[in-house]
Amino acid sequence: MLPSLLQVTQYESAKQWEYTDLTLECAGIRFPIHRVIVYPKVAAIKAACERGFKETSTRVYSIDGFEPSTVELLREYLYTGDYTTEHETRDDYGIVTLNNDPILSEALMPQLRVAAIADYFDIQPLQKLILVKVDEVLKIPWSSEGFAEAVNLAFEVNDETLRSKMATIVFDHLEDLLHQEFPAPFFANDLSRRVFRLTQNRKRDMEGEIKELSNEKAALLNRLEQAVMGYKLAVVYNGHSFVLKGTCLKCGQIRNYNKSELDSPHCERCQLWLSS
Ligand SMILES: [Zn+2]
Repeated sequence: MLPSLLQVTQYESAKQWEYTDLTLECAGIRFPIHRVIVYPKVAAIKAACERGFKETSTRVYSIDGFEPSTVELLREYLYTGDYTTEHETRDDYGIVTLNNDPILSEALMPQLRVAAIADYFDIQPLQKLILVKVDEVLKIPWSSEGFAEAVNLAFEVNDETLRSKMATIVFDHLEDLLHQEFPAPFFANDLSRRVFRLTQNRKRDMEGEIKELSNEKAALLNRLEQAVMGYKLAVVYNGHSFVLKGTCLKCGQIRNYNKSELDSPHCERCQLWLSS
């Protein structure tokens, strides 16, 4: 949803300390804010400020464990419904887009930091927005540079969808991540790295087998074109390989053929009867 002029104006006035009545503080940096904006969206801050904790008298709410730049993105979101990381631009209409081809992990990190703070304050609309933005970021061409750090950060966030997105990307680029000179930190456990490598080799073998089988099937289908009148042939997979199943349309007898005796599929019974 695009921010209204009013929202943008309110955000600008907050940055100028105009009529602000609450301050978020992070690592010594202060972010003035309007209670009327933050209370409806962040229940934890509202509760702390209203229930007679020290925040009530000081009108300062301390946020620990996050970077000030992330708190600024949170504040921008609370006012405008979106936020612009250092790799994003907001145009005149308020639409936020990615700018100048950042490296994948560089573009991901600030999004994941916002995901962490959204999770911490349980701001569900923001969590949903982040997933959309992460999908956009994941369209950036693959680069393993710094990616492990991004994965580790993503897994600190309690968001099933986010975790599964990251796991999918890791799976798609397992080969690359496993064969780096310095394996990614999440494969620091030697056992897991070995298991992943085996899985990867097994997958390659299976892909080879599937290709072989489909070639075999194509060859058999080719033979089918020479099917005899009055005799129906079908290609059937028996769990190990493809075989031909022949059915006589006259007497209904069914017979399996192996590849060596394919040259003249026929019904022996009817042939016998015809020739007698
Ligand atoms: Zn027959």
